[in-house]
Amino acid sequence: MRRKTALITGASRGIGRAIAQAYGAAGYDLFLTCLTSKQALQDLCTQISGAYGVCTHACCMDMGDWPSVQDLFSGIGELDVLINNAGISHIGLLSDMTPQQWRRVMSTNLDACFYTCKLAAQKMVAQKRGRILNISSVWGISGASMETAYSASKGALNSLTRALAKELAPSNVQVNAIACGVIDTDMNRCFSDEERQALIDAIPADRFGTPEEVAALALQLADAPAYLTGQILTLDGGFL
Ligand code: NDP
Repeated sequence: MRRKTALITGASRGIGRAIAQAYGAAGYDLFLTCLTSKQALQDLCTQISGAYGVCTHACCMDMGDWPSVQDLFSGIGELDVLINNAGISHIGLLSDMTPQQWRRVMSTNLDACFYTCKLAAQKMVAQKRGRILNISSVWGISGASMETAYSASKGALNSLTRALAKELAPSNVQVNAIACGVIDTDMNRCFSDEERQALIDAIPADRFGTPEEVAALALQLADAPAYLTGQILTLDGGFL
């Protein structure tokens, strides 16, 4: 029987790395990407294929670059699951942000998802099956001060999720998103101990989430009933 294939973007660290581990353990062949952490991604591929006997491919590339994404997809045959996880944050006042900084956030967090969804949808509609999962944020629902571009990119990603789900439902392709709360990864290393504690104090679960918790939900969504589509699932310890 053919093994299933998943493409997971931003898999060298944090949430994407945990999702790659979970999908590898579940027997998926994997296409994994990162921007610059080439060795870390290669080591992860070696570890996953050694542990689970699946095929892994590491691609170091900018997901916000359309020709690179086209190249990536030219090497992929059937695709069962696309997970748009690669993302960056930018913390600061909107009035201090440069157009280049704005563009970089939008390119990575939103343009990249358009590119991958476009190419994945072509495959999945032809296959009459497929799952797309976007890793989003609670800030895309509520908005966050000092993270306007990030909030806008994730809000747009949530709308993309709902709209594309309607477009692809007739073809048996499900599109959902996980809106994460604060997850303990490099993305939040910029916070001081005091800022970290203030955030924890605001979270009813009294802690940050773990990448493994996001990965567990991401894997469950691959096998969720096909009637579940167009949903933004909030995973935030009760934060919102
Ligand atoms: P990390 O900063 O730990 O990891 C980011 C990953 O994305 C890395 O693998 C990085 O590659 C990759 N990446 C960044 N830019 C690009 C690019 N242009 N092209 C290809 N890959 C890229 O982030 P997290 O694991 O915390 O976040 C993962 C996702 O979860 C993001 O979309 C984020 O917005 C979302 N999220 C995270 C939350 C959190 O609290 N951590 C909360 C809500 C949502 P490299 O190592 O090469 O730089």
